[in-house]
Amino acid sequence: MRKIPRRKFIQLSAAAAAGCIVVGGRTSYASDLPQLSEDDPMAQSMKYTHDASSVDASSRTNPAADQTCANCALVQGNDGDEWRPCQIFPGKVVNAAGWCSVWAAKT
Ligand code: SF4
Repeated sequence: MRKIPRRKFIQLSAAAAAGCIVVGGRTSYASDLPQLSEDDPMAQSMKYTHDASSVDASSRTNPAADQTCANCALVQGNDGDEWRPCQIFPGKVVNAAGWCSVWAAKT
């Protein structure tokens, strides 16, 4: 299981609480950001999909059928939002029902 360093977790929590992220010195709100495309080369390299249920759990790095972006330690923004910023894909938002191979459990 992958863990997030305490310092990074605190930084992510602060950003999530604020409902915003800072990209390139500019504060961005989730609603301003473009949605990550499944065709994006970085998304493809991380096996990102908008629909986690479409992924065979046996092919996952940490096999568990209930892994989604909404319960990943790297997601930011507000609980309940359909599209949320993610630390792995700066400047884009990912689907809360999505998944990628970097998924990490919240600690
Ligand atoms: Fe979703 Fe987590 Fe992957 Fe970001 S790192 S795309 S929140 S599973």
